[in-house]
Amino acid sequence: SVVVVGSINMDMVSHSPRLPAPGETLVGEAFVMAPGGKGANQAVAAARLGAEVAFVSRVGTRQHGAELLAALGAEGVHTAAVATDATALPGIAVIMVASQGGENSIVYVPGSNAQLSAADVEQAKAVLQAARVVVAQLEVPQPAIAHAFALARAAGVTTILNAAPALPVNAELLAQTQWLVLNETEAGQMAGMPSASLEQVRAAAEALLARGPGQVVVTLGAQGVLLCSAQQGAQHLPAQRVTAVDTVGAGDTFVGGLATGLAEGWAPADAVRLGQAAAALAVSRAGVQTAMPRRAELAAELQP
Ligand code: ADP
Repeated sequence: SVVVVGSINMDMVSHSPRLPAPGETLVGEAFVMAPGGKGANQAVAAARLGAEVAFVSRVGTRQHGAELLAALGAEGVHTAAVATDATALPGIAVIMVASQGGENSIVYVPGSNAQLSAADVEQAKAVLQAARVVVAQLEVPQPAIAHAFALARAAGVTTILNAAPALPVNAELLAQTQWLVLNETEAGQMAGMPSASLEQVRAAAEALLARGPGQVVVTLGAQGVLLCSAQQGAQHLPAQRVTAVDTVGAGDTFVGGLATGLAEGWAPADAVRLGQAAAALAVSRAGVQTAMPRRAELAAELQP
């Protein structure tokens, strides 16, 4: 199974002709509320692709929190290992999108995501130890992730850290990370190196590989993925060609697919291809979780 340790949010998105100036009130054209958070997104991506998925998180059930958990459960994700808090608010992202030009402004209030602790993770010990793959991102506190990865590694479970958003990663956490996955911007920032060209990305990935992970995967948007390991060197896997409609959440769909492939025992490049195929379909549709494909929509060679 795949266990995702991470964030869950409600995204509240307004669409208006342009972004309001400070102090200004604009009349909007549309409003959409949708579940998000990198952790929940990746859990949904893996579940849609057929993985058995459990979520480890902390969710304030005030206001929209209970609704968020129910939505995750409706996707088939196991939520029994989620710590709930009836006095706290869930994470909320208030997003304003300008219909002309697509620019956005976002205020993110982490809420209960910021309260996930190593003690919460300890409560999910049995779930983590029984997994094939454990996946985390950087929207929850690093001590909680480090504890999850330590439990996982001690039980022989594969660990994937999606180092997003771009934040410094504790050495202790990196030491427990077998797969480091990040986009080219995050790779450049983490390595402290430029990452504009493929050659620069490769140099940055090699510098990150030297910090301990067995595999470093840098996602390059429409350019695909650079997969690097000490044994195999660097391999560029191009993306499927699609007409991109909405690329928000591409990285989350990719990580969910990669985790699913690894949980099925696939070789690294094959698991990456599963992630890429799922992400390519997701970017060809509007929405984040709603755009994530089911396994049957992918090519025959990508079926379990
Ligand atoms: P993030 O959302 O974290 O910035 P990327 O934009 O690098 O991540 O996308 C993750 C993966 O999704 C890419 O490696 C690629 O396989 C796929 N992908 C993203 N954008 C496109 C696109 N326009 N066409 C095809 N595949 C894409």
